[in-house]
Amino acid sequence: MFFDSHLHLENESFESDREEVIKRALDGGIDLMINVGSDLETSVKSVELSNEYIGKIFAVVGYHPHEAKFFNEGSYKAIKDLTFLKNVLAIGEIGLDYHYDYSPRDVQMDCFRKQLRLAGEVGLPVVIHMREATKDTIDILEETNAQAIGGVFHCFSGSVDTMKRLVSMNFFISFAGPITFSNSHKLRDAVLETPIDRILSETDSPFLAPVPYRGKRNEPSNVKEVVKTISLIKKIEIADLEKMLYKNLLNAFPKLKLFKN
Ligand SMILES: [Zn+2]
Ligand SMILES: [Zn+2]
Repeated sequence: MFFDSHLHLENESFESDREEVIKRALDGGIDLMINVGSDLETSVKSVELSNEYIGKIFAVVGYHPHEAKFFNEGSYKAIKDLTFLKNVLAIGEIGLDYHYDYSPRDVQMDCFRKQLRLAGEVGLPVVIHMREATKDTIDILEETNAQAIGGVFHCFSGSVDTMKRLVSMNFFISFAGPITFSNSHKLRDAVLETPIDRILSETDSPFLAPVPYRGKRNEPSNVKEVVKTISLIKKIEIADLEKMLYKNLLNAFPKLKLFKN
């Protein structure tokens, strides 16, 4: 079976046809989707979706670095409350984004640290968004003993060296549409070098549609294009790869084992 380890179905671009998009994914064999929040509102919506599609859609809750400037004591408590719900698998997406700098860097770092500590406290893994902020991200992971927390680096866009470092710190590496782009040589090297038991597949829908849908709204059924590309790079048959990736998913998000056997 296929899965989409990271997407945003609550996004307004799905307002008119959300149910059809989900049905298309389920009919196409994408049996599991993880909807990731970016702030309190989208985290609550992720939980709502997980309640509507029990065992098919799961939720991850937290504050994205873009939204870090809105993270306060009240939102911390509200996110913490959500983490105790059955369908909530992890805290995310959290991290640092120095490409856009929508929140000041010191505010992003503070928000990231607080949520990493929260993850340690409630015993959940984290889903990390990192863009042009490798050094600070790794420094904060070390400082907060994130190796004991573990989790996923989503839509990985870093180097082979960075990947190796993150894998050594107990993280999984999730690849998205950009690995299908014809100019993505470096990223394909990262796929090639990532240990097979550390790889996940995602779409990050509605963003970053893979080839041949590049430029269009992305949707979960397109995760097959990502898996196809991993299969070509790793030279592993899709049927075998699906099973390997699914095993990785259960290891990355241990709460899933309560639903699946
Ligand atoms: Zn992200
Ligand atoms: Zn995302």
